[in-house]
Amino acid sequence: MTQPTKSIAVIGSGMATCGLIHALNKESYDIQIFEKARGTGGRMAHHKSPEGNLEFGAQFFTARTPELQALVAHWYQNNLITPLHNLPLIGNLGTPAWVPQDRFSALHRNLLKSQHLWFQHKVISTSVAAEKLNLQIENTLENSMLEKGPFDHVVITAPTPQAIHLLPPEHPFVTALSTVDYWPCWVMVAESNVTDGNQTPLIVESDPDIAWLQRYNRGHKSQWVIQMSHQWSFEHVEKTQAFVEEAIKFKLQGMGIFQHSAIGSSNIDTLRCHRWLYAKPKTILDKPYLYEKYISFAGDACLGRRVEDAFTSGYLLGKHLNTL
Ligand SMILES: Cc1cc2nc3c(=O)[nH]c(=O)nc-3n(C[C@H](O)[C@H](O)[C@H](O)COP(=O)(O)OP(=O)(O)OC[C@H]3O[C@@H](n4cnc5c(N)ncnc54)[C@H](O)[C@@H]3O)c2cc1C
Repeated sequence: MTQPTKSIAVIGSGMATCGLIHALNKESYDIQIFEKARGTGGRMAHHKSPEGNLEFGAQFFTARTPELQALVAHWYQNNLITPLHNLPLIGNLGTPAWVPQDRFSALHRNLLKSQHLWFQHKVISTSVAAEKLNLQIENTLENSMLEKGPFDHVVITAPTPQAIHLLPPEHPFVTALSTVDYWPCWVMVAESNVTDGNQTPLIVESDPDIAWLQRYNRGHKSQWVIQMSHQWSFEHVEKTQAFVEEAIKFKLQGMGIFQHSAIGSSNIDTLRCHRWLYAKPKTILDKPYLYEKYISFAGDACLGRRVEDAFTSGYLLGKHLNTL
């Protein structure tokens, strides 16, 4: 096997990074991935709680490029995903939608396996010296600071407001990245040990403040996922979790939601709210990625607002890096 000739640091381990790693010629690159969270997935990740896994992020994904469709076929054959048939709230997507059999993290594990991943490594800044890049990093597990490098190239996949802070001062990407603003999103997940025997996901009628409301039966548990609208989330962005929890519960009770199934509000075991400050880009860059000699940027904000856009952005960047 040939020795890698170039070193690359990737910031983030969401779908953009999955697309990047899928495309990159691994024999040419020594790759290190730095992720501030405890696991992979970014906005597709589940959150571990003492009671189980709570799905605060993306609920389904679509695949319109041949590269992602080939992966979908592979994941489907390996029982990692299943088609989602019933989408009355969001209408016809014009393409099949897919949900995880268990969790989306299985897809990230599949694509990032055998990669050098550093979890709980929050990159604070990047600096260039002698034509190489160094990363200043906070290890949030050990509460310490460290420096990693030198690297030939760094790929940033964090949402644009976070990405800007990682660039060296006066970097040429700042102007473009500053044009992308994000909607926040408040999400509530309620879990119960009671299921009503109906194994198909149920999306019930909603109101304009609710963007997504779905009940899943998973094994012996039922889980409700309620994503509030962009506008509602924006208006409540500075409210506390406790305030938002009460506001959403009040809304659901008014709609008679929990009474629709065997899950009454009395037998909800876990109820958690999560705020995504940077949930979905309001505008997009309309470029597959940003590239300059030392630093690149990839992510959903380049091409759209979906998982598949993030994947494609990373994938196209990876293909470009292979040509250099
Ligand atoms: C509530 C919600 C619901 C959604 N629903 C859907 C859906 O149903 N279908 C769909 O297609 N899309 C959906 N989306 C959008 C989809 O999740 C995103 O488009 C996609 O996951 C973005 O991937 P990404 O790799 O570009 O960014 P991210 O997933 O945000 O990945 C960026 C990664 O960078 C890490 N990071 C950031 N800063 C640093 C740092 N300083 N150091 C180290 N690591 C860092 C983050 O922790 C994260 O893991 C939803 C998004 C949200 C928030």
